[in-house]
Amino acid sequence: MRLKHLRLHHFRNYEGLELDLSHDLTVIFGRNAQGKTNLLEGLYYAAMGFSFRTRHDEELVTFGQEDCAAEICYEDRYGENRLLVKRSHQKGRLKKESLLNGTPVSPKEQYGQLNLVLFTPDDLQLVKGDPALRRRFLNMEIAQINRMYYEALQKYNRVLLQRNKFLRQCREQEHLEEAQLLVWDAELARAASHILQERLETMEDISAAAGRVYEKITEGREHLSLQYLQKRADGETIPDPRHSFSEWEGFYQDELKKRHRLDYLRGYTSIGPHRDDLQILQEGRPLKSFGSQGQQRTAALALKLSELDFIHKIRDEYPILLLDDVLSELDASRRHMLLEGMSGRVQTLLTVNDRALADCSGDCIFYEVSGGTLREDCHEGR
Ligand code: ATP
Ligand code: MG
Repeated sequence: MRLKHLRLHHFRNYEGLELDLSHDLTVIFGRNAQGKTNLLEGLYYAAMGFSFRTRHDEELVTFGQEDCAAEICYEDRYGENRLLVKRSHQKGRLKKESLLNGTPVSPKEQYGQLNLVLFTPDDLQLVKGDPALRRRFLNMEIAQINRMYYEALQKYNRVLLQRNKFLRQCREQEHLEEAQLLVWDAELARAASHILQERLETMEDISAAAGRVYEKITEGREHLSLQYLQKRADGETIPDPRHSFSEWEGFYQDELKKRHRLDYLRGYTSIGPHRDDLQILQEGRPLKSFGSQGQQRTAALALKLSELDFIHKIRDEYPILLLDDVLSELDASRRHMLLEGMSGRVQTLLTVNDRALADCSGDCIFYEVSGGTLREDCHEGR
């Protein structure tokens, strides 16, 4: 995929931006709080229909303005496309809509049209941070290329919310209605089995792709693999990918039932794919517990970059890579490997404080950003 043009209108500190994106690498550099992340956020918003920084869209509108829009023109192997996301007020009411080539699309239809891989300093916590980070990684990776997974996830989250709400109602009334809870269990078990099966099916590909990148970064010295960890009443285990859908359904029904009392007391569902984890292993040992900080960072980088190969394998074209402020977090050799590895293969947009860190030799362009305004920087020396 290739980006062509980005337009932002009243988006964060961009009153108006028109940016051509024809180069392999676009570097946005500048001091703090000038609009580097805002620009990537605008691009992401146009592509995905939501921000990676906030769930409150009203924060995106330039202070003092009412409406905003973000539009991206790009090319995939079928042709040119234009995605526009806008928030506007019509007859006093707020309206948000996404248009693909001028036709309104739902969030579900929009998701995965333009594939992006975003890497921020937060992602460096992927290995040692909270399991929620790793679940999000897995969900985003699979959902971008698998519409069924996206739908299953939506369904699961909806049923989960309803079951939790019901548990809290029971708690307030100080009475657990087992029969009704069993109805929720059955529905949640079905949705959970879909999620789990899709996750297990793709684990092998994700693990292999991450392993290849990790080996490349460490020049073949170290090996990485991933393992899915399923939470159960008696601890965490590695689920058997050969189990059938109905076996998983039965399994979840049993596990949920075992925890009726506990869930009732807590007021939430304590088991299911929303509690599972991903284990990242190096030579068979969990990096989370045994890895050095450098190894953990390298593994996090490998996981994120593996998304590129993973998406390429399914889509037959590379996604766009967005790197927000990660260069300063990596040492020179990893930086080099990152920029060289992408060069000519994956179109990349990156932001950095210090221009000198973006040591690029191929088809690249540099912009300095200051107060939401870009200025091309043709300065050759570094
Ligand atoms: P850093 O190097 O620190 O990451 P950055 O260049 O990435 O900086 P951004 O996060 O892109 O900085 O921009 C932050 C600036 O944008 C802040 O000064 C903030 O006040 C401004 N800003 C955030 N939201 C809005 C908004 N809705 N309207 C106008 N300005 C905004
Ligand atoms: Mg920033």
